[in-house]
Amino acid sequence: MAGSFFIATLGCPKNEVDSEKLGGLLRSAGYLETSEPGHADLLVVNTCAFIEPAREESIDVILELGALRREGSRLAVTGCLAERSGRELAEALPEVDVVAGFGVDFLGEVAATPRAGGSSSQLGVPSSPVRLLGRGEVPSFDLLELPRPAASAPWAYVKVAEGCDRRCGFCAIPSFRGRQRSRTMASILSEVESLNVSEVILVAQDLASFGRDRSGDRPRPDAADRRDGPSAVGGISSLVKAVSERAERVRLLYLYPSSLTDDLIETIAGTGVPYFDLSLQHVSGRLLRKMRRWGSGGRFLERIEHIRSVAPGAALRSSFILGYPGETEEDQDALLDFLSEAQLDWVGFFTFSREAGTYAASLDCQVEPELALERLRECSELQEQITARRRRQLVGTSVSVLVDRTGVGRSFREAPEIDGIVRVPTQLEPGTFAKVLVTGAAGPDLVARPVSLTPADLNDVGAGAS
Ligand code: SF4
Repeated sequence: MAGSFFIATLGCPKNEVDSEKLGGLLRSAGYLETSEPGHADLLVVNTCAFIEPAREESIDVILELGALRREGSRLAVTGCLAERSGRELAEALPEVDVVAGFGVDFLGEVAATPRAGGSSSQLGVPSSPVRLLGRGEVPSFDLLELPRPAASAPWAYVKVAEGCDRRCGFCAIPSFRGRQRSRTMASILSEVESLNVSEVILVAQDLASFGRDRSGDRPRPDAADRRDGPSAVGGISSLVKAVSERAERVRLLYLYPSSLTDDLIETIAGTGVPYFDLSLQHVSGRLLRKMRRWGSGGRFLERIEHIRSVAPGAALRSSFILGYPGETEEDQDALLDFLSEAQLDWVGFFTFSREAGTYAASLDCQVEPELALERLRECSELQEQITARRRRQLVGTSVSVLVDRTGVGRSFREAPEIDGIVRVPTQLEPGTFAKVLVTGAAGPDLVARPVSLTPADLNDVGAGAS
């Protein structure tokens, strides 16, 4: 047996998929997974480099595991931070054995690195641990195409593409993840079939542009995409239809608004999971142009209205950045007005992070961080009320939930890990679907009981319901 491994994953669902694939590879190499980092022979930190707090958290975890690791174990760092700042990391953190950017077979590197046998700080860093991919180069160690281990929940993320062809002003991702590289439909469907889960959540940096790199129709950064007719064969709509034939639910995360064509809206609504996660970022047209993005509050409202005309009960999620350079009080007022009018179900707010090498980092009129935070609080307070109200409106309705684990279910309205949940009786079997009656709401969460059961049958739900 090769030993035991422990993986710490930071960041987004796309990283979680990479970690699962790494875990599968390690298992097939004879490693056993342990939940105790102090017992592991190999510790892997799959880092995030999206914004400064994510980088800090990644480094904290590396240091934490460096302190916890047992003598003779090996510590590898991979993921976005390794790709973006690999050389600096390798120099600054001598306790790390291997810093591996994308496409580096770091397992081979780790295996080839002799253990120093002394304290962790004596372990050596390989002489050239970081290899950056050239433009358009496909990694030899391609996580995207690695087989996936069995899912541990009734749902799973499936990453359908890597990289991004857009150039949003605030985002450094294209600079280190490269241009979009879509997987083939066959490879994705084979992964979906092998996962054998009830809910598949498709993820990519720019999900709605899936397949466009293969067809040569790459999106223009801040322009409206073509809206005439159904998406090409092999595009996102075809993928959604094909996945929906293999799993009860298919959910899409992160849709660039101009790529949300009428055809895609109808396709999503037709799967029975009318959940629309629109990456809007702001509503001020002037600010969006500074972000090098498409749209305006008015256009977004039109799209939302269209979604609701096709799927009246649709759930809508979005995210917004507060404090982008040049943001004014008028922009903030416009965003608050938009939130009131759009009545979105779920919203994430983030303050602008000045990322080295991005277009936005060089812009004048940077907004004071305190002001950005104040604007974020203002938006969050408003949205919390909207979300709570929308959740209360569901009381008395019946919904179909997928039971994720004992006592926790989700209807189509809740994506795992980011939205609220539906609290269900513990009698409901994880992995099954159940029709439940919503009996209460508590902030973002709902409380429900099976339609066939009476309240007297239950003794384990209802706490916290209002
Ligand atoms: S769409 Fe924009 S924000 Fe999203 S990954 Fe691409 S460049 Fe970054």
